[in-house]
Amino acid sequence: MIRYFKVRKLIQGRLFKGQEIISEITKYLKENTINAGLISGIGAVSKAKIGYYDQTTRQYISQEFNEPMEILFLKGNISIKDGEPFPHIHIVLSKKDYSCIGGHLFEAQVFAFEFELIEFDGNFYERGFDEDTGLFLWKI
Ligand code: ZN
Repeated sequence: MIRYFKVRKLIQGRLFKGQEIISEITKYLKENTINAGLISGIGAVSKAKIGYYDQTTRQYISQEFNEPMEILFLKGNISIKDGEPFPHIHIVLSKKDYSCIGGHLFEAQVFAFEFELIEFDGNFYERGFDEDTGLFLWKI
């Protein structure tokens, strides 16, 4: 049910205005062969597409929010899906009126973004289809 890892590296960085978070992080993971780890970050976005997994229909419902928002919390894990490093990221965003939205992050355009990436050393997880949920979860 669990695995133990050692920390290989702690990376801190930023993305620039106009960059897209998921594609840039995925590119970095692939280029540096980071197969396991954690990501966290804060900042602001100019727009974002987030999702909610409907457990009954077993499908993601996604929605785009085309407005400036703060990233209050961004957290994700890194594992292997379809043979390649895959970041699974969730996000909480706040709007101008301080109300919050959140969900599974599909894409977000950066206004400002600072992140930490912790690379693990060990026997990484691979994702596979899970019959019980309809999701691609870690194969234990
Ligand atoms: Zn998710």
